[in-house]
Amino acid sequence: MYSSSYNSALVFISLVVAMLASYTALDLAGRISSARGRAAHMWLAGGACAMGLGIWSMHFVGMLAFELPIELGYDPFLTFVSLMLAIGPSAIALWLVAADTLPWRRLLAGAALLAIGIGGMHYVGMEAMRMTPAIHYRPGLVALSVVIAFGASLAALWIAFRLRRTMDRVQLYRAGAAVLMGLAISGMHYTGMASADFPLGSVCGVILTGIDTEWLAVLVITITLSVLGIALLTSVLDMRLESRTARLAVSLAKANEALTYQAMHDSLTDLPNRALLQDRISQAIQAAHGSTAQFAVLFLDLDGFKAINDAYGHVVGDKLLVQVAQRLSSVISDKDTVARLGGDEFVVLTAVTEPADAATVAEAILDVLREPISLDDHIVQISTSVGIALYPDNGLTQETLLANADAALYHAKACGRDNYCYFEASMNANVHEQLQLLQELRGALARREFRLHYQPKFDARAGHMTGVEALLRWEHPQKGRIAPDQFIPLAEKSGLIVQIGEWVLDEACRQLSEWHAMGHTSWTVAVNLSAIQFNHVRLVDTVVQTLKRHNLEARFLTLEVTETVAMTDAAASMVIFKRLHDLGVRIAIDDFGTGYSSLLYLKQLPAHELKIDRGFVDDLQARGDDNAIVSAIIALGRTLNLKIVAEGVETVAQQQVLKQLGCDSLQGYLLGRPLPPHDLLASVKA
Ligand code: C2E
Ligand code: CA
Ligand code: CA
Repeated sequence: MYSSSYNSALVFISLVVAMLASYTALDLAGRISSARGRAAHMWLAGGACAMGLGIWSMHFVGMLAFELPIELGYDPFLTFVSLMLAIGPSAIALWLVAADTLPWRRLLAGAALLAIGIGGMHYVGMEAMRMTPAIHYRPGLVALSVVIAFGASLAALWIAFRLRRTMDRVQLYRAGAAVLMGLAISGMHYTGMASADFPLGSVCGVILTGIDTEWLAVLVITITLSVLGIALLTSVLDMRLESRTARLAVSLAKANEALTYQAMHDSLTDLPNRALLQDRISQAIQAAHGSTAQFAVLFLDLDGFKAINDAYGHVVGDKLLVQVAQRLSSVISDKDTVARLGGDEFVVLTAVTEPADAATVAEAILDVLREPISLDDHIVQISTSVGIALYPDNGLTQETLLANADAALYHAKACGRDNYCYFEASMNANVHEQLQLLQELRGALARREFRLHYQPKFDARAGHMTGVEALLRWEHPQKGRIAPDQFIPLAEKSGLIVQIGEWVLDEACRQLSEWHAMGHTSWTVAVNLSAIQFNHVRLVDTVVQTLKRHNLEARFLTLEVTETVAMTDAAASMVIFKRLHDLGVRIAIDDFGTGYSSLLYLKQLPAHELKIDRGFVDDLQARGDDNAIVSAIIALGRTLNLKIVAEGVETVAQQQVLKQLGCDSLQGYLLGRPLPPHDLLASVKA
């Protein structure tokens, strides 16, 4: 046997390389498991190369450190094969520890594979020397080397799996583990070397001619260290990037959260805002849907807020709102929502078991907000109005519920504030739309947007036209022509009807005197009066002056008042009727049959005409009992000496029945629609 020796510097370096390769392997193992998709594959491939190359070069440098008294060389092909044997199992090992779990069976199989790879690498690498006669191995030591390889692999895989970051001081553990693994790999190598005997006289088949062993070692070491260095550097840089990305992601998530909060809350009071409230109501609807659950939406608005804001300024106003928000939150339960919609509008969403529960909440709110509030050095006292809408009775969607609660609030305010009001279907009109319309209605007169259309009235028997009824139209610049039903109630509520009515009266009289001048001297004109106009102190004066202005005799003018208006305060009406009657103006009771007339009063009323409501004329021949009503009205009119007018005549059949029953005048689409004055004249001539 040749006596062999080792170059101790190279042995030391091989040890260092083994440890470094182990460290790299452990580091990359962690990287693979945290990466996803293509990046994970790249890390696996790169990691396997770095690790395999590291193990292999530890082995190769160890071989170069081995000194025999003869020249040695290495077969390039077998050397390459030994390198591949190092890389292949490394890939498998890294793949194993990157998985989410590492059961014992997989660990053992992986370790066995890795041991075979490392052992194979070692002994194939030895074969690359192509010694003749062949190297003589001592079986015991060979077996030991394989056991060491297996043990080292087992430990390495287990450690690598456990050290996939996530723990504190992982770097330190990794370094310790790398030292152990490096020692184990080297131990395997040098045990394997020790198992080999080189018989005296054996020669190397591939003598390394010309290339100095130490230079080759330096080359291999340099390449290996570079590869490991690059791998580690990449890993570290990537980790920095990753942790920065992770930090960014965290702060982004936080910013997002803050933004979402801001988007859903009112910045002044920190209460939920409209968006969140709408969401909560929708959720409540979903939860209540299909069950018997109910809830209430309470819309509230502070009564004196605007005055306080104006008197003390916005800062104080804001403080007041904050205190109101706190008080509201204090009276509702945790499960309920109180939101601020803006300004001094708040909404409370509360679960109820019966409608009366909403009143209890509303009273608690009214009470707590009635308490004096101290703001800096002012003590203010406010009150609140509350509108209540109930689910499901007052709406099935959040839009309807909010709109209806708002309508109820409007009502509560109108009823004198500091109280609450349940929604009722009659409040349904869209309050905001109405407010805008009212705004526009105010200027309509000055902008000359009103027109009068005239619907002809005919003598029922003779068939000739006796006069017209003036019907108001609003030519809205954007919305087009608006029917009186849509704006007269608004004009009445706002009192604008007085001015508008004066205009109607004036215009109707002007038009009639124009027609009289044209030869239609028998025509009369009827003008509708609303309750407010009728009860207005100026009414009689206005009528007198208007008639005078247009040089019209009073008998040509008829004033139509609905039955309800005429009967509401019958005694007061009587006085007005009398004065108008004394002027010589004719009076018609409109929509007769829809109200509750007292026959006694009706008898005393100095009226001239009864206008049968359109509703009775509508289904005149359809139902016998309606015919009876109309005949009764006509009979009544007769005994009271009143002329009977039927309006809404649409068919020839209706016309004939009415004529038979003894109506005096007829009016309706069949005979003539309401028309602008010019068109009416044209239709009469035709
Ligand atoms: P009203 O006094 O009962 O007027 C009759 C309404 O019936 C008119 O509607 C007319 O166009 C409509 N009409 C006439 N013939 C027929 C028919 O054959 N079939 C149908 N379906 N309808 C017919 P309009 O013009 O929309 O007026 C509605 C109401 O508005 C009036 O009811 C009246 O109460 C009020 N109004 C109209 N002009 C004035 C006004 O200048 N002042 C006041 N205070 N109220 C007015
Ligand atoms: Ca009328
Ligand atoms: Ca009528």
